[in-house]
Amino acid sequence: MTTSLRDSVLSALQACGVDTTILDHGDLRTRTPITGEELFTLPADSTESVDQAISKAHEAFLHWREVPAPERGNVVRRWGELLREHKRDLAILVQSDAAKTLSEAEGEVQEMVDICEFAVGQSRMLYGKTMPSERPGHRLMETWHPLGVIGVISAFNFPVAVFSWNTALALVCGNTVVWKPSELSLLSALGAHALLAQAVTDCGQPADIHHIVLGERAVGEQIVDDPRVALISATGSTRMGHEVAPRVAARFGRYLLELGGNNAAIVSPSADQDLALRGVVFAAAGTAGQRCTTMRRLIIHESIAEEFTEKLVKAYRTLTIGDPRDEGVLVGPLVHHTAFENMQEALRQAEAEGGEILCGGKRVMAEEMPEAFYVEPAIVRMPSQSATVHQETFAPILYILTYRDFGDALDLHNDVPQGLSSAIFTADQTEAEIFLSARGSDCGIANVNIGTSGAEIGGAFGGEKETGGGRESGSDAWKAYMRRATNTVNYSGELPLAQGVKFL
Ligand code: NAD
Repeated sequence: MTTSLRDSVLSALQACGVDTTILDHGDLRTRTPITGEELFTLPADSTESVDQAISKAHEAFLHWREVPAPERGNVVRRWGELLREHKRDLAILVQSDAAKTLSEAEGEVQEMVDICEFAVGQSRMLYGKTMPSERPGHRLMETWHPLGVIGVISAFNFPVAVFSWNTALALVCGNTVVWKPSELSLLSALGAHALLAQAVTDCGQPADIHHIVLGERAVGEQIVDDPRVALISATGSTRMGHEVAPRVAARFGRYLLELGGNNAAIVSPSADQDLALRGVVFAAAGTAGQRCTTMRRLIIHESIAEEFTEKLVKAYRTLTIGDPRDEGVLVGPLVHHTAFENMQEALRQAEAEGGEILCGGKRVMAEEMPEAFYVEPAIVRMPSQSATVHQETFAPILYILTYRDFGDALDLHNDVPQGLSSAIFTADQTEAEIFLSARGSDCGIANVNIGTSGAEIGGAFGGEKETGGGRESGSDAWKAYMRRATNTVNYSGELPLAQGVKFL
Protein backbone atom coordinates (compact mmCIF):
# COMPACT_ATOMS: atom_id res chain seq x y z
CA MET A 1 0.00 0.00 0.00
CA THR A 2 2.76 2.41 1.05
CA THR A 3 4.77 1.99 -2.12
CA SER A 4 1.78 2.15 -4.41
CA LEU A 5 0.53 5.44 -2.96
CA ARG A 6 3.95 7.04 -3.34
CA ASP A 7 4.27 5.61 -6.83
CA SER A 8 0.88 6.76 -8.04
CA VAL A 9 1.52 10.24 -6.64
CA LEU A 10 4.92 10.32 -8.32
CA SER A 11 3.50 9.39 -11.71
CA ALA A 12 0.69 11.94 -11.31
CA LEU A 13 3.27 14.62 -10.53
CA GLN A 14 5.27 13.64 -13.60
CA ALA A 15 2.15 13.62 -15.79
CA CYS A 16 1.34 17.17 -14.64
CA GLY A 17 4.87 18.22 -15.58
CA VAL A 18 6.24 18.83 -12.08
CA ASP A 19 10.02 18.93 -11.85
CA THR A 20 10.39 15.88 -9.62
CA THR A 21 14.11 16.45 -9.01
CA ILE A 22 13.04 18.71 -6.13
CA LEU A 23 11.42 15.78 -4.33
CA ASP A 24 13.13 14.31 -1.28
CA HIS A 25 15.13 17.49 -0.71
CA GLY A 26 14.41 20.06 1.95
CA ASP A 27 12.47 20.24 5.19
CA LEU A 28 8.85 20.55 4.12
CA ARG A 29 7.07 17.26 4.66
CA THR A 30 4.26 16.09 2.47
CA ARG A 31 2.18 13.75 4.56
CA THR A 32 -0.96 12.13 3.22
CA PRO A 33 -3.89 11.93 5.63
CA ILE A 34 -4.98 8.71 3.87
CA THR A 35 -2.34 6.62 5.63
CA GLY A 36 -0.54 9.26 7.66
CA GLU A 37 2.73 8.45 5.93
CA GLU A 38 5.19 11.02 4.70
CA LEU A 39 5.49 10.75 0.92
CA PHE A 40 8.22 13.23 0.03
CA THR A 41 10.05 16.21 1.38
CA LEU A 42 10.33 19.49 -0.47
CA PRO A 43 12.54 22.56 -0.19
CA ALA A 44 10.86 25.53 1.49
CA ASP A 45 11.23 29.02 0.05
CA SER A 46 13.54 31.35 1.92
CA THR A 47 12.83 34.99 2.75
CA GLU A 48 15.08 35.91 -0.19
CA SER A 49 13.35 33.62 -2.69
CA VAL A 50 9.89 34.85 -1.65
CA ASP A 51 11.13 38.42 -2.07
CA GLN A 52 12.49 37.52 -5.50
CA ALA A 53 9.21 35.90 -6.55
CA ILE A 54 7.31 39.06 -5.61
CA SER A 55 9.87 41.23 -7.43
CA LYS A 56 9.63 39.16 -10.60
CA ALA A 57 5.85 39.07 -10.47
CA HIS A 58 5.84 42.83 -10.03
CA GLU A 59 8.12 43.36 -13.02
CA ALA A 60 6.05 40.98 -15.13
CA PHE A 61 2.94 42.93 -14.18
CA LEU A 62 4.32 46.07 -15.84
CA HIS A 63 4.20 44.23 -19.17
CA TRP A 64 1.21 41.93 -18.58
CA ARG A 65 -1.16 44.80 -17.78
CA GLU A 66 -0.69 46.06 -21.37
CA VAL A 67 -1.46 42.73 -23.04
CA PRO A 68 -5.05 42.90 -24.36
CA ALA A 69 -7.42 41.13 -21.98
CA PRO A 70 -8.70 38.58 -24.56
CA GLU A 71 -5.09 37.61 -25.26
CA ARG A 72 -4.55 37.18 -21.52
CA GLY A 73 -7.63 34.99 -21.65
CA ASN A 74 -5.82 32.65 -24.07
CA VAL A 75 -3.45 31.59 -21.30
CA VAL A 76 -6.38 30.74 -19.08
CA ARG A 77 -8.12 28.91 -21.92
CA ARG A 78 -5.01 26.78 -22.42
CA TRP A 79 -4.77 26.15 -18.68
CA GLY A 80 -8.36 24.92 -18.72
CA GLU A 81 -7.57 22.56 -21.60
CA LEU A 82 -4.58 21.13 -19.77
CA LEU A 83 -6.61 20.74 -16.59
CA ARG A 84 -9.27 18.86 -18.52
CA GLU A 85 -6.61 16.62 -20.06
CA HIS A 86 -4.96 15.97 -16.68
CA LYS A 87 -8.10 15.82 -14.59
CA ARG A 88 -7.36 12.35 -13.24
CA ASP A 89 -3.66 13.11 -12.56
CA LEU A 90 -4.40 16.24 -10.60
CA ALA A 91 -7.30 14.53 -8.82
CA ILE A 92 -4.88 11.84 -7.60
CA LEU A 93 -2.74 14.58 -6.06
CA VAL A 94 -5.78 16.28 -4.51
CA GLN A 95 -6.86 12.94 -3.13
CA SER A 96 -3.47 12.29 -1.61
CA ASP A 97 -3.26 15.76 -0.03
CA ALA A 98 -6.84 16.20 1.15
CA ALA A 99 -8.05 12.57 1.37
CA LYS A 100 -11.11 13.14 -0.78
CA THR A 101 -12.90 10.41 -2.69
CA LEU A 102 -11.87 10.32 -6.34
CA SER A 103 -15.27 11.65 -7.38
CA GLU A 104 -14.88 14.66 -5.09
CA ALA A 105 -11.25 15.18 -6.10
CA GLU A 106 -12.21 15.10 -9.77
CA GLY A 107 -15.05 17.47 -8.98
CA GLU A 108 -12.51 19.88 -7.55
CA VAL A 109 -10.48 19.78 -10.77
CA GLN A 110 -13.67 20.16 -12.80
CA GLU A 111 -14.33 23.33 -10.83
CA MET A 112 -10.96 24.60 -12.05
CA VAL A 113 -11.88 23.84 -15.64
CA ASP A 114 -15.20 25.63 -15.14
CA ILE A 115 -13.65 28.79 -13.71
CA CYS A 116 -11.10 28.87 -16.54
CA GLU A 117 -13.92 28.79 -19.08
CA PHE A 118 -15.78 31.46 -17.15
CA ALA A 119 -12.67 33.65 -16.96
CA VAL A 120 -12.00 33.33 -20.70
CA GLY A 121 -15.46 34.76 -21.35
CA GLN A 122 -14.87 37.40 -18.70
CA SER A 123 -11.73 38.51 -20.51
CA ARG A 124 -14.02 40.07 -23.13
CA MET A 125 -16.41 41.50 -20.55
CA LEU A 126 -14.40 43.77 -18.26
CA TYR A 127 -17.16 46.29 -18.69
CA GLY A 128 -17.14 49.85 -17.43
CA LYS A 129 -20.26 51.99 -17.38
CA THR A 130 -20.88 55.23 -19.24
CA MET A 131 -23.01 57.74 -17.34
CA PRO A 132 -24.72 60.87 -18.62
CA SER A 133 -22.70 63.93 -17.70
CA GLU A 134 -24.51 66.97 -16.27
CA ARG A 135 -22.27 69.19 -18.42
CA PRO A 136 -22.74 69.68 -22.18
CA GLY A 137 -19.97 68.26 -24.37
CA HIS A 138 -18.69 65.95 -21.65
CA ARG A 139 -18.43 62.22 -21.39
CA LEU A 140 -18.44 60.49 -17.99
CA MET A 141 -17.39 56.89 -17.76
CA GLU A 142 -15.51 54.35 -15.70
CA THR A 143 -12.63 52.14 -16.70
CA TRP A 144 -11.24 49.10 -14.90
CA HIS A 145 -7.54 48.44 -14.48
CA PRO A 146 -5.53 45.63 -12.93
CA LEU A 147 -4.24 46.02 -9.39
CA GLY A 148 -0.74 44.54 -9.64
CA VAL A 149 0.57 41.46 -7.84
CA ILE A 150 -2.12 39.35 -6.20
CA GLY A 151 -0.99 37.26 -3.20
CA VAL A 152 -3.08 34.10 -2.94
CA ILE A 153 -2.95 32.20 0.36
CA SER A 154 -4.98 29.01 0.37
CA ALA A 155 -6.28 26.33 2.74
CA PHE A 156 -5.68 22.58 2.68
CA ASN A 157 -9.24 21.42 2.12
CA PHE A 158 -9.72 22.87 -1.36
CA PRO A 159 -6.06 22.76 -2.23
CA VAL A 160 -6.32 23.74 -5.90
CA ALA A 161 -9.84 24.98 -6.74
CA VAL A 162 -9.60 28.16 -4.68
CA PHE A 163 -6.22 28.91 -6.27
CA SER A 164 -7.84 28.67 -9.69
CA TRP A 165 -10.83 30.87 -8.75
CA ASN A 166 -8.37 33.58 -7.85
CA THR A 167 -5.76 33.01 -10.51
CA ALA A 168 -7.98 32.58 -13.57
CA LEU A 169 -9.72 35.87 -12.86
CA ALA A 170 -6.64 37.71 -11.61
CA LEU A 171 -4.75 36.85 -14.79
CA VAL A 172 -7.45 37.85 -17.26
CA CYS A 173 -7.84 41.10 -15.32
CA GLY A 174 -4.14 41.81 -16.00
CA ASN A 175 -2.61 40.99 -12.62
CA THR A 176 0.22 38.65 -11.82
CA VAL A 177 0.03 36.09 -9.02
CA VAL A 178 2.18 34.82 -6.17
CA TRP A 179 0.59 31.76 -4.57
CA LYS A 180 1.31 30.31 -1.16
CA PRO A 181 -0.57 27.03 -0.93
CA SER A 182 -1.31 25.34 2.39
CA GLU A 183 1.69 23.55 3.85
CA LEU A 184 -0.63 20.53 4.13
CA SER A 185 -1.37 20.24 0.42
CA LEU A 186 1.86 20.88 -1.43
CA LEU A 187 1.81 18.11 -4.00
CA SER A 188 -1.49 19.05 -5.63
CA ALA A 189 -0.29 22.67 -5.56
CA LEU A 190 2.82 21.71 -7.52
CA GLY A 191 0.67 19.83 -10.04
CA ALA A 192 -1.80 22.70 -10.55
CA HIS A 193 1.02 25.18 -10.83
CA ALA A 194 2.99 23.09 -13.33
CA LEU A 195 -0.05 22.91 -15.61
CA LEU A 196 -0.41 26.68 -15.46
CA ALA A 197 3.31 27.06 -16.25
CA GLN A 198 2.80 24.83 -19.29
CA ALA A 199 -0.14 26.94 -20.46
CA VAL A 200 1.91 30.13 -20.11
CA THR A 201 4.74 28.61 -22.16
CA ASP A 202 2.37 27.25 -24.81
CA CYS A 203 0.94 30.75 -25.25
CA GLY A 204 4.39 32.36 -25.47
CA GLN A 205 3.79 34.56 -22.42
CA PRO A 206 6.38 35.42 -19.74
CA ALA A 207 6.84 32.76 -17.07
CA ASP A 208 6.96 35.37 -14.31
CA ILE A 209 3.24 36.20 -14.44
CA HIS A 210 2.75 33.54 -11.79
CA HIS A 211 4.86 32.16 -8.95
CA ILE A 212 4.40 29.54 -6.30
CA VAL A 213 6.14 29.86 -2.95
CA LEU A 214 6.28 26.97 -0.52
CA GLY A 215 6.40 27.22 3.22
CA GLU A 216 4.50 27.58 6.44
CA ARG A 217 2.71 30.60 7.77
CA ALA A 218 5.83 32.79 7.88
CA VAL A 219 5.86 32.72 4.08
CA GLY A 220 2.23 33.85 4.13
CA GLU A 221 3.10 36.64 6.56
CA GLN A 222 5.87 37.87 4.29
CA ILE A 223 3.47 38.18 1.36
CA VAL A 224 0.86 39.82 3.59
CA ASP A 225 3.34 42.50 4.70
CA ASP A 226 4.86 43.26 1.29
CA PRO A 227 3.61 46.58 -0.08
CA ARG A 228 4.24 45.38 -3.66
CA VAL A 229 1.38 42.91 -3.21
CA ALA A 230 -1.72 44.91 -4.06
CA LEU A 231 -4.35 42.40 -2.98
CA ILE A 232 -4.14 39.56 -0.49
CA SER A 233 -6.74 36.90 -1.21
CA ALA A 234 -6.60 34.60 1.80
CA THR A 235 -8.65 31.48 2.40
CA GLY A 236 -8.52 29.67 5.71
CA SER A 237 -9.60 29.86 9.32
CA THR A 238 -11.12 32.89 10.96
CA ARG A 239 -8.07 32.91 13.21
CA MET A 240 -5.89 33.43 10.14
CA GLY A 241 -8.18 36.18 8.85
CA HIS A 242 -7.97 37.99 12.19
CA GLU A 243 -4.20 38.04 11.80
CA VAL A 244 -4.06 38.91 8.12
CA ALA A 245 -6.69 41.67 7.85
CA PRO A 246 -5.14 44.24 10.25
CA ARG A 247 -1.67 43.71 8.77
CA VAL A 248 -2.84 44.37 5.23
CA ALA A 249 -5.03 47.26 6.38
CA ALA A 250 -2.05 48.81 8.17
CA ARG A 251 -0.34 49.31 4.82
CA PHE A 252 -3.64 50.28 3.08
CA GLY A 253 -3.47 47.15 0.95
CA ARG A 254 -6.59 45.36 -0.16
CA TYR A 255 -7.75 42.02 1.15
CA LEU A 256 -10.29 39.44 0.15
CA LEU A 257 -11.03 36.97 2.92
CA GLU A 258 -12.71 33.57 2.68
CA LEU A 259 -12.84 32.24 6.23
CA GLY A 260 -14.66 29.75 8.40
CA GLY A 261 -18.33 28.86 8.24
CA ASN A 262 -20.92 27.48 10.66
CA ASN A 263 -23.55 26.52 8.19
CA ALA A 264 -27.08 25.48 9.02
CA ALA A 265 -30.19 24.10 7.37
CA ILE A 266 -33.72 24.69 8.56
CA VAL A 267 -36.02 21.75 7.93
CA SER A 268 -39.65 22.80 8.06
CA PRO A 269 -42.66 20.49 8.59
CA SER A 270 -43.63 20.82 4.92
CA ALA A 271 -40.22 19.68 3.62
CA ASP A 272 -39.79 16.67 1.36
CA GLN A 273 -38.07 14.61 4.02
CA ASP A 274 -36.32 12.16 1.72
CA LEU A 275 -34.78 14.97 -0.26
CA ALA A 276 -33.84 16.83 2.92
CA LEU A 277 -32.28 13.69 4.34
CA ARG A 278 -30.01 13.19 1.34
CA GLY A 279 -29.13 16.88 1.28
CA VAL A 280 -28.23 16.89 4.97
CA VAL A 281 -26.16 13.70 4.91
CA PHE A 282 -24.03 14.85 1.96
CA ALA A 283 -23.51 18.34 3.37
CA ALA A 284 -22.83 17.23 6.96
CA ALA A 285 -20.81 14.04 6.55
CA GLY A 286 -19.33 14.38 3.05
CA THR A 287 -15.62 15.23 2.77
CA ALA A 288 -15.48 14.15 6.45
CA GLY A 289 -16.93 17.52 7.45
CA GLN A 290 -13.90 19.33 6.06
CA ARG A 291 -15.58 21.80 3.73
CA CYS A 292 -16.00 25.43 4.63
CA THR A 293 -19.64 24.90 3.60
CA THR A 294 -20.13 21.71 5.63
CA MET A 295 -23.49 21.66 7.39
CA ARG A 296 -22.79 21.92 11.10
CA ARG A 297 -26.25 22.74 12.44
CA LEU A 298 -29.67 21.28 11.68
CA ILE A 299 -32.56 23.42 12.86
CA ILE A 300 -35.63 21.25 12.62
CA HIS A 301 -39.28 21.77 13.50
CA GLU A 302 -40.16 19.99 16.74
CA SER A 303 -43.09 18.16 15.13
CA ILE A 304 -40.82 16.17 12.80
CA ALA A 305 -37.57 16.25 14.77
CA GLU A 306 -37.79 12.79 16.27
CA GLU A 307 -38.79 10.99 13.09
CA PHE A 308 -36.22 12.84 10.96
CA THR A 309 -33.44 12.37 13.48
CA GLU A 310 -34.07 8.63 13.58
CA LYS A 311 -33.80 8.44 9.79
CA LEU A 312 -30.66 10.55 9.88
CA VAL A 313 -28.95 8.34 12.45
CA LYS A 314 -29.90 5.31 10.36
CA ALA A 315 -28.46 6.92 7.23
CA TYR A 316 -25.22 7.80 9.09
CA ARG A 317 -24.84 4.15 10.10
CA THR A 318 -24.77 3.14 6.43
CA LEU A 319 -21.92 5.52 5.53
CA THR A 320 -18.79 3.69 4.46
CA ILE A 321 -15.77 5.14 6.21
CA GLY A 322 -12.33 4.23 4.95
CA ASP A 323 -9.51 4.75 2.52
CA PRO A 324 -10.98 7.22 0.02
CA ARG A 325 -9.25 5.39 -2.83
CA ASP A 326 -11.46 2.37 -2.23
CA GLU A 327 -14.61 1.93 -4.28
CA GLY A 328 -17.77 2.73 -2.34
CA VAL A 329 -16.08 4.73 0.42
CA LEU A 330 -17.94 7.95 1.18
CA VAL A 331 -16.07 9.32 4.20
CA GLY A 332 -12.28 9.58 4.33
CA PRO A 333 -10.06 10.62 7.23
CA LEU A 334 -9.53 13.89 9.05
CA VAL A 335 -6.50 15.83 7.94
CA HIS A 336 -4.35 15.22 11.03
CA HIS A 337 -4.18 14.37 14.70
CA THR A 338 -5.01 17.92 15.80
CA ALA A 339 -8.23 17.85 13.76
CA PHE A 340 -9.16 14.63 15.55
CA GLU A 341 -8.35 16.13 18.95
CA ASN A 342 -10.41 19.22 18.13
CA MET A 343 -13.35 17.02 17.24
CA GLN A 344 -13.07 15.04 20.48
CA GLU A 345 -12.82 18.26 22.49
CA ALA A 346 -15.92 19.71 20.79
CA LEU A 347 -17.86 16.52 21.55
CA ARG A 348 -16.76 16.62 25.21
CA GLN A 349 -17.78 20.27 25.48
CA ALA A 350 -21.11 19.65 23.75
CA GLU A 351 -21.89 16.90 26.27
CA ALA A 352 -20.92 19.20 29.12
CA GLU A 353 -23.37 21.75 27.71
CA GLY A 354 -26.21 19.20 27.80
CA GLY A 355 -25.75 17.66 24.36
CA GLU A 356 -26.50 14.01 23.66
CA ILE A 357 -24.32 12.16 21.15
CA LEU A 358 -26.77 10.14 19.07
CA CYS A 359 -24.15 8.45 16.93
CA GLY A 360 -20.53 8.64 15.80
CA GLY A 361 -17.52 10.46 17.10
CA LYS A 362 -15.31 7.40 17.51
CA ARG A 363 -12.03 6.80 15.81
CA VAL A 364 -11.92 3.81 13.46
CA MET A 365 -9.13 1.89 11.69
CA ALA A 366 -6.64 3.12 14.29
CA GLU A 367 -4.93 -0.27 14.51
CA GLU A 368 -4.35 -0.69 10.78
CA MET A 369 -3.34 2.94 10.34
CA PRO A 370 -2.14 4.49 13.61
CA GLU A 371 -0.99 7.68 11.86
CA ALA A 372 -4.29 8.28 10.03
CA PHE A 373 -7.41 9.69 11.69
CA TYR A 374 -10.61 8.12 10.49
CA VAL A 375 -13.73 8.99 12.52
CA GLU A 376 -17.39 8.17 12.47
CA PRO A 377 -19.36 11.32 11.62
CA ALA A 378 -21.28 12.41 14.71
CA ILE A 379 -24.80 13.68 15.36
CA VAL A 380 -25.37 15.52 18.62
CA ARG A 381 -28.77 16.63 19.92
CA MET A 382 -28.38 19.99 21.67
CA PRO A 383 -30.80 21.63 24.11
CA SER A 384 -29.71 25.07 22.92
CA GLN A 385 -27.21 26.84 20.74
CA SER A 386 -24.38 26.72 23.29
CA ALA A 387 -20.82 28.05 23.07
CA THR A 388 -19.55 24.92 21.30
CA VAL A 389 -22.22 25.18 18.63
CA HIS A 390 -21.12 28.75 17.96
CA GLN A 391 -17.64 27.55 16.93
CA GLU A 392 -16.56 26.01 13.68
CA THR A 393 -15.03 22.62 14.44
CA PHE A 394 -13.50 21.40 11.19
CA ALA A 395 -14.78 17.83 11.52
CA PRO A 396 -18.03 15.94 10.87
CA ILE A 397 -20.22 16.97 13.81
CA LEU A 398 -23.85 17.85 13.13
CA TYR A 399 -25.69 19.57 15.98
CA ILE A 400 -29.46 19.18 16.03
CA LEU A 401 -31.57 22.01 17.39
CA THR A 402 -35.36 22.25 17.33
CA TYR A 403 -37.79 25.13 16.83
CA ARG A 404 -41.50 25.80 17.18
CA ASP A 405 -42.01 29.14 15.37
CA PHE A 406 -40.40 29.96 12.06
CA GLY A 407 -39.16 33.28 13.47
CA ASP A 408 -37.28 31.37 16.20
CA ALA A 409 -35.70 29.16 13.54
CA LEU A 410 -34.38 32.23 11.73
CA ASP A 411 -33.07 33.70 15.00
CA LEU A 412 -31.25 30.46 15.80
CA HIS A 413 -29.96 30.30 12.26
CA ASN A 414 -28.39 33.76 12.31
CA ASP A 415 -27.20 33.67 15.91
CA VAL A 416 -23.63 32.53 15.16
CA PRO A 417 -20.54 34.64 14.41
CA GLN A 418 -20.02 33.15 10.93
CA GLY A 419 -22.10 33.74 7.79
CA LEU A 420 -21.03 31.52 4.91
CA SER A 421 -23.68 29.09 3.67
CA SER A 422 -27.26 28.27 4.61
CA ALA A 423 -30.26 26.29 3.47
CA ILE A 424 -33.93 25.74 4.05
CA PHE A 425 -35.86 22.61 3.16
CA THR A 426 -39.50 23.55 2.76
CA ALA A 427 -42.46 23.29 0.41
CA ASP A 428 -43.89 26.49 1.87
CA GLN A 429 -43.14 29.28 -0.59
CA THR A 430 -43.61 32.01 2.00
CA GLU A 431 -40.98 30.46 4.25
CA ALA A 432 -38.62 30.05 1.31
CA GLU A 433 -39.05 33.67 0.26
CA ILE A 434 -38.61 34.97 3.80
CA PHE A 435 -35.45 32.88 4.16
CA LEU A 436 -34.03 34.54 1.04
CA SER A 437 -35.19 38.04 2.04
CA ALA A 438 -33.41 40.72 4.07
CA ARG A 439 -34.90 39.35 7.30
CA GLY A 440 -33.95 35.79 6.42
CA SER A 441 -30.55 34.12 6.21
CA ASP A 442 -27.66 36.51 6.85
CA CYS A 443 -25.20 34.34 4.89
CA GLY A 444 -23.42 34.89 1.58
CA ILE A 445 -25.02 31.72 0.25
CA ALA A 446 -28.69 30.91 0.90
CA ASN A 447 -30.26 27.85 -0.72
CA VAL A 448 -33.73 26.37 -0.94
CA ASN A 449 -34.22 22.59 -1.01
CA ILE A 450 -30.53 21.93 -1.48
CA GLY A 451 -27.79 21.50 1.12
CA THR A 452 -25.20 24.03 2.19
CA SER A 453 -22.24 22.63 0.26
CA GLY A 454 -21.36 22.08 -3.39
CA ALA A 455 -21.58 25.55 -4.91
CA GLU A 456 -21.27 26.18 -8.65
CA ILE A 457 -18.63 28.58 -9.96
CA GLY A 458 -21.15 30.81 -11.77
CA GLY A 459 -22.26 32.53 -8.57
CA ALA A 460 -20.13 34.71 -6.34
CA PHE A 461 -18.79 32.61 -3.46
CA GLY A 462 -18.16 33.89 0.05
CA GLY A 463 -19.77 34.90 3.29
CA GLU A 464 -20.47 37.57 5.85
CA LYS A 465 -19.48 38.33 9.44
CA GLU A 466 -16.49 36.22 10.59
CA THR A 467 -16.43 34.52 7.19
CA GLY A 468 -14.72 37.68 6.05
CA GLY A 469 -17.03 39.36 3.51
CA GLY A 470 -15.01 38.39 0.40
CA ARG A 471 -16.51 37.15 -2.85
CA GLU A 472 -14.67 34.96 -5.34
CA SER A 473 -15.43 32.97 -8.45
CA GLY A 474 -18.45 33.90 -10.59
CA SER A 475 -20.87 36.80 -11.06
CA ASP A 476 -19.00 40.12 -10.76
CA ALA A 477 -16.31 38.81 -8.38
CA TRP A 478 -13.73 39.87 -11.01
CA LYS A 479 -14.11 43.44 -9.78
CA ALA A 480 -12.19 42.54 -6.61
CA TYR A 481 -9.07 42.06 -8.77
CA MET A 482 -9.31 45.46 -10.47
CA ARG A 483 -9.33 49.12 -9.60
CA ARG A 484 -11.95 51.47 -10.95
CA ALA A 485 -11.16 54.86 -12.47
CA THR A 486 -13.87 57.44 -13.14
CA ASN A 487 -13.05 59.44 -16.27
CA THR A 488 -14.52 62.73 -17.45
CA VAL A 489 -13.72 63.78 -21.00
CA ASN A 490 -14.48 67.34 -22.05
CA TYR A 491 -14.96 67.86 -25.80
CA SER A 492 -16.99 71.08 -25.44
CA GLY A 493 -14.20 73.61 -25.89
CA GLU A 494 -15.56 75.38 -22.76
CA LEU A 495 -14.76 74.72 -19.13
CA PRO A 496 -18.10 74.49 -17.31
CA LEU A 497 -17.74 73.40 -13.68
CA ALA A 498 -19.90 70.73 -12.07
CA GLN A 499 -22.81 71.83 -9.83
CA GLY A 500 -22.83 75.16 -11.70
CA VAL A 501 -19.88 76.50 -9.70
CA LYS A 502 -18.38 79.74 -11.07
CA PHE A 503 -14.64 80.41 -10.79
CA LEU A 504 -12.62 82.84 -12.88
P1 NAD B 1 -5.51 27.82 8.15
O1 NAD B 1 -6.08 29.13 8.54
O2 NAD B 1 -4.81 27.03 9.16
O3 NAD B 1 -4.45 28.04 6.94
C1 NAD B 1 -4.83 28.60 5.71
C2 NAD B 1 -3.62 29.20 5.03
O4 NAD B 1 -3.22 30.38 5.73
C3 NAD B 1 -2.39 28.31 5.00
O5 NAD B 1 -1.75 28.45 3.75
C4 NAD B 1 -1.53 28.86 6.13
O6 NAD B 1 -0.15 28.62 5.96
C5 NAD B 1 -1.83 30.34 6.01
N1 NAD B 1 -1.66 31.14 7.24
C6 NAD B 1 -1.97 30.78 8.50
N2 NAD B 1 -1.75 31.81 9.34
C7 NAD B 1 -1.28 32.84 8.60
C8 NAD B 1 -0.86 34.18 8.88
N3 NAD B 1 -0.88 34.65 10.12
N4 NAD B 1 -0.46 34.97 7.85
C9 NAD B 1 -0.46 34.49 6.58
N5 NAD B 1 -0.81 33.23 6.26
C10 NAD B 1 -1.23 32.41 7.25
O7 NAD B 1 -6.73 26.99 7.48
P2 NAD B 1 -6.78 25.45 7.06
O8 NAD B 1 -6.80 24.59 8.27
O9 NAD B 1 -5.79 25.17 5.98
O10 NAD B 1 -8.23 25.39 6.36
C11 NAD B 1 -9.43 25.19 7.04
C12 NAD B 1 -10.14 26.49 7.29
O11 NAD B 1 -10.32 27.20 6.06
C13 NAD B 1 -11.54 26.31 7.83
O12 NAD B 1 -11.79 27.29 8.81
C14 NAD B 1 -12.43 26.52 6.61
O13 NAD B 1 -13.75 26.92 6.91
C15 NAD B 1 -11.68 27.60 5.89
N6 NAD B 1 -12.00 27.64 4.48
C16 NAD B 1 -12.79 28.66 4.04
C17 NAD B 1 -13.17 28.71 2.71
C18 NAD B 1 -14.09 29.80 2.21
O14 NAD B 1 -14.18 29.94 1.00
N7 NAD B 1 -14.74 30.57 3.05
C19 NAD B 1 -12.72 27.74 1.82
C20 NAD B 1 -11.88 26.72 2.29
C21 NAD B 1 -11.53 26.69 3.63
